[in-house]
Amino acid sequence: MAFHNQHCKRYAQILIKQGIAYADIQSIEDLHRIPPLPTLYYKKQKIASLPCKKMVIKATSSGTSGSKSQIGYDAKGLYFGAHMVYRIAKYHKLLSSKPTNYIILGYQPNKENQAVTAKTALGATYLAPAKERVYALQYVNGNYELNIKGMMKALVKFSKQSNPVRILGFPAYALFLANELEKRKRRIILPKGSKVILGGGWKQFYSERVEKDVLYQKLFLTLGIEEENIREFYGAVEHPMLYCDCKNHHFHVPIYSRVIVRDVDTLLPVANGKVGILNFLTPLMESMPLTSVMTDDLGVLYDGAECGCGNLAPYFEVIGRAGLRDIHTCTQGAEELLGGRKK
Ligand SMILES: [Zn+2]
Repeated sequence: MAFHNQHCKRYAQILIKQGIAYADIQSIEDLHRIPPLPTLYYKKQKIASLPCKKMVIKATSSGTSGSKSQIGYDAKGLYFGAHMVYRIAKYHKLLSSKPTNYIILGYQPNKENQAVTAKTALGATYLAPAKERVYALQYVNGNYELNIKGMMKALVKFSKQSNPVRILGFPAYALFLANELEKRKRRIILPKGSKVILGGGWKQFYSERVEKDVLYQKLFLTLGIEEENIREFYGAVEHPMLYCDCKNHHFHVPIYSRVIVRDVDTLLPVANGKVGILNFLTPLMESMPLTSVMTDDLGVLYDGAECGCGNLAPYFEVIGRAGLRDIHTCTQGAEELLGGRKK
């Protein structure tokens, strides 16, 4: 907050309008007073604390409504980020030196595709060295094509090798794959140590959403992957943090960030166990004031001990997108908060 206050005029103005100064934030309990910027704000405004040439990676969010956040990351932030990914992946036993075959249930990266989902999927293939990568959406002559045949062929081929397989992608795509195998009455048992790594949530596929245990059961029946080998990641372009679920499939908050759940109307923090808007905080990046970011996701924060996995850090659950009214309230609240348009 102090860094962005010093290096970003727009952010300094927000702090002044809010009447919040660096000295007001003395303890963890004060964190909620750092003005949260809604993800919508990054879609509408350019806000940066470093010049464009210092942004080593530029990413766009996979916005469903057409407007996209243009987010840049700086070298130092990425260095810390890489360290975080390493430590979290190690903790969750996702690092392996065994050559691994990958099926990526997403877009094959190309120069035009800046969406962060393509990059994170590719990034995740470095947690274990890639022997081969097969993409569900293949780039052919300037267009993306669904590569079902190629995926089926790859699954059969990989199942005959001794190398573990990792299937990465949106839960909706994993469901689609399992359904496709069911339809074809195929059961392709993948080698020992194979994993399914899900990420990105259900987003635009929310209506197709199934309960986690239904998806896990389908993946076990079609690919022989047991529940303990199905893991989920959570993160956002505006909050480049890697959350990985525990064995009970809960996202505990790691040391690198804090999560606050805010009341939809008052934007004040709510008690653990209550539903509200998810607000993520991290000091990771110097490139832009991503210090406190308010998503348009509804969620709940729980006491860590309630999970039972042994990790006592609180964990959050994403319930879904805030409704239109909530978003409106939230946007309006945010605009007031930022001293923008008056009511
Ligand atoms: Zn847990």
